[in-house]
Amino acid sequence: MILPSFTIISCILPIIRCGAVPILVDSDPVTWNMDVKKIEDIITSKTKAIIAPHIYGLPIDMDPLLKIAKKYKLRVIEDAAEVLGLKYKNKECGSFGDVSTFSFYANKHITTGEGGMIVTDNKQIADKCKSLRNICFNDKRRFLHYDLGWNYRFTNLQAAIGLAQLEKLNRFIIKKRNIGKIYSKELSKIKIFNTPLDKKKYAKNIYWVYGLVLKKNSPIGLNTLMKKLKQYGIETRNFFWPLHRQPILKKMGFFKNTKLPVAEHLGKNGLYLPTGLSITLVQQKYVINKIKKIIFKYL
Ligand SMILES: *Cc1c(COP(=O)(O)O)cnc(C)c1O
Repeated sequence: MILPSFTIISCILPIIRCGAVPILVDSDPVTWNMDVKKIEDIITSKTKAIIAPHIYGLPIDMDPLLKIAKKYKLRVIEDAAEVLGLKYKNKECGSFGDVSTFSFYANKHITTGEGGMIVTDNKQIADKCKSLRNICFNDKRRFLHYDLGWNYRFTNLQAAIGLAQLEKLNRFIIKKRNIGKIYSKELSKIKIFNTPLDKKKYAKNIYWVYGLVLKKNSPIGLNTLMKKLKQYGIETRNFFWPLHRQPILKKMGFFKNTKLPVAEHLGKNGLYLPTGLSITLVQQKYVINKIKKIIFKYL
């Protein structure tokens, strides 16, 4: 199974647990998404699927990815956890995979506390998922089981919250895009950072989070920057840590000789800024001013 190294560990856990072999691909230094141009080189006769997580607010370039999947008869599992409401060329993210997944964890665009959703237009897969989430009960004789399932049942309470949240999704996205634009207007001028692209030909950034990546040879290190922001009361978060450098996966013997420089650079040099929906313009200006204040003495 092919997936990017620069993503959350959730993407690789089911691969490992089912005994499949994860093969990692590097990321694009500008969009931070998996580098679709590098997929074809790592496909072998054993490759079965591509896991495609959209990262931070811009989508993966899906057309070339789908073309490769078709050419080599690979399944696509699209992870749209971070991009509910984002479109790739006028089509919703989460509608491209054989299976596409969403998360309703507290920090996602809409939340039900915990939980998520799998979507597919394949009836067999849908039925299988429904069965698996409900410990594979069978219709004919209750308590007779022909497969091993889980209790992954989504409650009615969560669904009710989710439906109410869904009504607000468009408003949330407008606000997120606005937050992103306010940061970019000032921060994209600062030469030591890479800031998120506002748009690509195929999509407009939804800014699930607002990332900053220190360029190579930046005069200030990531930890120093984070620590100084913290002193001003500004909490920032690290980017994902690349999968091929994860301690547990190394310990299990995975990725001994894997080198993926873009994923490593992002993991070591990226942070995200406060972008909660309740943030105000005054607070964003405060963040921007403090960043400028911290870095100007290094420039
Ligand atoms: C949040 C997230 C997940 C995990 O979702 P959970 O609901 O917390 O399991 C998976 N993939 C991506 C890309 C995510 O951002």
